[in-house]
Amino acid sequence: MQGNRSRDTRPELALRRALHALGLRYRVCTRPLPNVRRTADVVFPSARVAVEVRGCFWHGCVDHYKQPRTNSGYWANKIQQNLRRDEDLARTLQDAGWALEVVWEHEDATTAAVRVAAIVHERRIAARRVSSTRNQPGKAPRSGTETSANGLHERERPSM
Ligand SMILES: [Zn+2]
Repeated sequence: MQGNRSRDTRPELALRRALHALGLRYRVCTRPLPNVRRTADVVFPSARVAVEVRGCFWHGCVDHYKQPRTNSGYWANKIQQNLRRDEDLARTLQDAGWALEVVWEHEDATTAAVRVAAIVHERRIAARRVSSTRNQPGKAPRSGTETSANGLHERERPSM
């Protein structure tokens, strides 16, 4: 239980509404990687894009974070821990071939949603390209000359 990671915060809801208005469908507060115990605020599984909405205070926004005057050591330490966790998540996702997009609390939700939509769109196209080269429908039946098993007649292989 983390006091600082409540779900459905106002900036999260604003972003989700804006994404929805752009026609995007997504999952909310789920683990992008089933075997990693971290959730992301908005997840696009097929495009492998995770979005984190970060609060300016809790995530040490360079423009808006102000260290509280009381218990400053405690807070500095707490925010440091959060930043480490943020970096950790980014690295884990990256290693798994995911993209992590960070949306700050101070950002305009619509602008952020348009940015996220562009990333999702781009990655969906890239994913489709990969799968279409993997299995190409409508290709002419294999000619009997393609006997790549013994390394002969490689030139008969259709070009991609
Ligand atoms: Zn900020």
